[in-house]
Amino acid sequence: MRQSKTKLAKCITTSAYFYGMAGKERRSYLLLIFLLVVMTAVAPFINILIPKYIIEEIMGNQNIRNIVIYVLFIVVGNYCIAVLHKIFQEERSKKEDWISRMFDLKMSEKSMKMKYEDMEMESVLDAEQKAEIGMSWYSGGIRGLSDCIIGICSAIVTFLGVVWVVSRISLWLLLAALLAVVVEAFCTSKINQASQEVFEKTPAINKFYSYIYTRITNREYAKELRLYDGTQLVEKKAIHNAKELNKMDNECALKQFAWGIPGVFASTISYSFSYCYLGAMVLQKQLTIGEFVMCITAIETFTNGCLLSIINHSQQLMLKCNFMHAFIEYMSLDNDKKEGTQTIKREDFEEIRFNKVSFKYPGADKYTLKDIDLTIHKEERISIVGLNGAGKSTLVKLLCGLYDVTEGEIQVNGKSIREYQYEEYVRLLSVVFQDFKLFGYSLDENIQVGEAENHLEGEEKTEGHLQDIYDMSGISQWVSTLKNKGNTLMSKAFDEEGVEPSGGQAQKIAIARALYCDAPLVILDEPTAALDPVAEFEIYNHFNQLIQNKTAIYISHRLSSCKFCDKIIVLGENTILETGTHEELLALNGIYAEMFQTQAGWYVEKG
Ligand code: ADP
Repeated sequence: MRQSKTKLAKCITTSAYFYGMAGKERRSYLLLIFLLVVMTAVAPFINILIPKYIIEEIMGNQNIRNIVIYVLFIVVGNYCIAVLHKIFQEERSKKEDWISRMFDLKMSEKSMKMKYEDMEMESVLDAEQKAEIGMSWYSGGIRGLSDCIIGICSAIVTFLGVVWVVSRISLWLLLAALLAVVVEAFCTSKINQASQEVFEKTPAINKFYSYIYTRITNREYAKELRLYDGTQLVEKKAIHNAKELNKMDNECALKQFAWGIPGVFASTISYSFSYCYLGAMVLQKQLTIGEFVMCITAIETFTNGCLLSIINHSQQLMLKCNFMHAFIEYMSLDNDKKEGTQTIKREDFEEIRFNKVSFKYPGADKYTLKDIDLTIHKEERISIVGLNGAGKSTLVKLLCGLYDVTEGEIQVNGKSIREYQYEEYVRLLSVVFQDFKLFGYSLDENIQVGEAENHLEGEEKTEGHLQDIYDMSGISQWVSTLKNKGNTLMSKAFDEEGVEPSGGQAQKIAIARALYCDAPLVILDEPTAALDPVAEFEIYNHFNQLIQNKTAIYISHRLSSCKFCDKIIVLGENTILETGTHEELLALNGIYAEMFQTQAGWYVEKG
């Protein structure tokens, strides 16, 4: 009892939530649903009531004019309702397309706003998967919800009308039909329960399944799959997955089939009873043939139509609301990026301080960074070096606020970075990540990603400024060869005239993006890894010009490129092992000196 109460409550809150959102997106949608309810409810009565008058006219007065009027009434009535229904459904479909897209967009916005570290949590990924498939495969989203609401509301109105028609002839008939419907409804609830069980079990398999079909088969993995003949491995995993899903679907279908049989049996018995009972009444002259036809059609509408529709649609509604509730749960995950209220202007940036900062990745046992103490002053150039996995990128991610420190504090101008409004804080940073991504938009849009946000104090970025950026990042020559110049899409996926930049070009675009931000702190994580030696030389040569009077944090494996930095930090064993200038560290003759000499030797030997 309590369970059905909670189900009902969930159903009401879920419907209210989605119709509230749908109404905000397309106000006339709710009116359209109302009109469809009224039309669907009224339509059956044309075919229940009018044939009685036609039959009685044929059996009685045989007035041709009256018969024609009745027939016309049925034909024109049904036609008008069918046409209006089609128009309204068409309109409804257009609005639902828009509303569904807006729901998708809301989910994407949620994903984009949530804490970066939560994006790798299993529970969050499962919640996202459940919301996604709950809104599509399993419920049909707003479309599926409205099918149920229209089905229930119109069937209730029809139901009341039909009960009135049948009860005037015999209450026994109502009772027989009611019993059949109760049995069918019970069976349908078991059928629905079976698909709910599958929904609960499948997120993990579906996640893997969609990984195979949406990611592995696209270009991201194309090279590895071809060169290492990975198709067989993927196929094997896909087949294993498909088999698991199939097994579950088959078990579900078997259960659904078994529960379908008693329902059909009950309705057959009920029909037989109605025909016999009404037939006997006609033979005893208690009923005209017209009334017999009207009553049989009414009972048919009652069992196969409205009552079953109310029960089925209610069960479907509960089921769909349960699936769709996954969307509400995902949207209300309390994992939006927490931020402070303090503001900070770019020109006020003075200093970064890591105070005994320690960090463990979520779910990890070991510290990736431990007790890091580090101060970076305005206009200083810092180089962070260390072996792979030493924590260099992690340190940058912490500074960018993508992860929260586990212990200690990162301060900017003496205040924890958590105290700043995140949008303001990130305006202090121009970052090129090692695994930067370009968007499939135009070149200029890729460079001006944060344009709306970054037009500070009415500061207009002119075309001339963009040209300077092209020059500084070394892409002017390449841009001049592009047919649509800065408007060229950086992907061929959406436009044949788009281009697929090479690794080096892409890296320069990423550098251009960081330069365009014009933030006081520039962070470059392996900025030249994909560049050819000439481009690399140019970037280093122009480094001072690129950075100008900004503060710079620079991560590179090319130790010779660290020479020009004011301070070199050597990371290893979770912490800072050495700090100093290039000369100081060489004199120290420690890890840096060893790394530098190994690399220098390599260059000398290889020439
Ligand atoms: P570096 O940039 O010095 O090569 P990283 O900062 O990328 O090193 O990585 C430091 C350590 O943290 C590595 O052991 C790496 O496996 C681990 N690590 C990096 N990213 C994650 C993550 N998202 N979750 C868990 N561990 C991670």
